[in-house]
Amino acid sequence: MSNLAASDPGFGVYIHWPFCAQKCPYCDFNSHVRFGGWDEDRFLAAYLSELDTAAARIGVRQVRSIFFGGGTPSLMKPETVAAILDRIAHH
Ligand code: SF4
Repeated sequence: MSNLAASDPGFGVYIHWPFCAQKCPYCDFNSHVRFGGWDEDRFLAAYLSELDTAAARIGVRQVRSIFFGGGTPSLMKPETVAAILDRIAHH
C-alpha cells in the first residue's frame, strides 16, 4: 500500500468470458456457443498473460472492483476464477 499514491482513485478490472450454453436471439453481446466445449486451460493461460501484461503497463495502482461478464461467466470452473483473482491480488 505504501507505493500507492494517495490521490489514486483506483480502477476496475473486467474479465470477459465469451461462452454461453445457448445464444439468446436478442443478444448483442460478444458471446458464443461451443458445442464441443472450450479449452479452459488455454483461456486461463491467456487471461493470466493479459493480466501480467496489463499490470506491467499500468504499474502499482489499487484495484477497487473486479467484474466477470460475458457470456455466462458462471460456466467458468471455480479454479479458473480463483486463479484469476489470485493473479490480480498478486499484482
Ligand atoms: S450473454 Fe446472456 S443474453 Fe447473451 S446469449 Fe449469453 S445468456 Fe443469452
